[in-house]
Amino acid sequence: MEKTDILSLDLHELEAELVRAGEKKFRAKQIFQWLHVKKVFDFDKMTDISVQLRGRLKENFCVNGLFVQKRLESCIDNTVKYLYRLCDGNFVETVLMEYSYGYSLCISTQVGCKMGCRFCASAIAGFVRNLEPSEMLMQIYETEKNSGVKISGLVLMGIGEPLDNYDNVVKFLRLLSHKDGNNFSLRHVSLSTCGIVPKIYELAELKLGLTLCISLHSAENSARSEIMPINRAYNIQELLEACRTYIAETGRRITFEYAVMDGVNSSEKDADRLAALLRGMNCHVNLIPVNKVKERQYTTAGTAVADFAKRLEKRGINATVRRTLGSDIEAACGQLRRDAINRVGNGGA
Ligand code: SAH
Repeated sequence: MEKTDILSLDLHELEAELVRAGEKKFRAKQIFQWLHVKKVFDFDKMTDISVQLRGRLKENFCVNGLFVQKRLESCIDNTVKYLYRLCDGNFVETVLMEYSYGYSLCISTQVGCKMGCRFCASAIAGFVRNLEPSEMLMQIYETEKNSGVKISGLVLMGIGEPLDNYDNVVKFLRLLSHKDGNNFSLRHVSLSTCGIVPKIYELAELKLGLTLCISLHSAENSARSEIMPINRAYNIQELLEACRTYIAETGRRITFEYAVMDGVNSSEKDADRLAALLRGMNCHVNLIPVNKVKERQYTTAGTAVADFAKRLEKRGINATVRRTLGSDIEAACGQLRRDAINRVGNGGA
């Protein structure tokens, strides 16, 4: 019989499993706290649980660990990039970043990605599978253990499209923020999407309190469809309508991410279009220099980001420029995993 992944179970599910096995319901909370508060994953070390129950837990449940395949430390800043190997041999990337207010972690939500954005390294190696809630949690728990730091901010901006793994991502967020568990405030979570419109409406209804980031990258449909295939399914107008609903439902400001690419999206006309699109909206624009991906030709000239920020400012749109962290350690998403696959030569699966 296949063992159940215990870290992906919420408290109710764990209670139901234990009651079904003839155990007392309150045991579930004890076990939940061992896992999510004390971060103890070895059943033998759960000392307030009887030896008999520990034995039964071992027979029926497992904790799918993550293994550090590679750990790269930046010499420029304190960014640390982890390439984690999952139980089935797949790889994901996790990046730990230091800010003045604390440590923030960027986690992956899928092994690979289906979205096919032209400028993104994750798209090149293709899609393998969704991550389980436990595998998203473990990126946090394992990184905290490995680095010895407490993570206070979380961004879902690693490999994968979080809204294409909606149910597991929502379950992960509920587990992470559970008051009897890790009790992480979802106010300190940012979720980034390329724009899967129906899921934005669903997420709005949940009112989780997180910050929604939209990878916009162009305010013009034909240009956006060219670099982001998702735009052919849900165009900019449909996306913006969903964003307006999200803001109205949640009262939260949206962040629009915009990677400035030479000759693609940074002209005066592009600034006009973007300003017209976002004027009056409760939002914020985050400009990013494009991370060079070997197989792709996209570039950002030296002053292009600052120039585009000025163009937006002149049009009354405030934009911040994202600090590039770990530029010496291939911190661009998906590059480490792709290199590892190329070396191992098994598609990472
Ligand atoms: N799938 C989600 C989250 C993962 S990508 C999304 O699309 O938002 C995280 C962010 O990095 C997105 O804004 C994405 O567009 C951006 N990104 C991907 N490749 C990039 C590159 N080469 N240079 C700059 N930003 C990139």
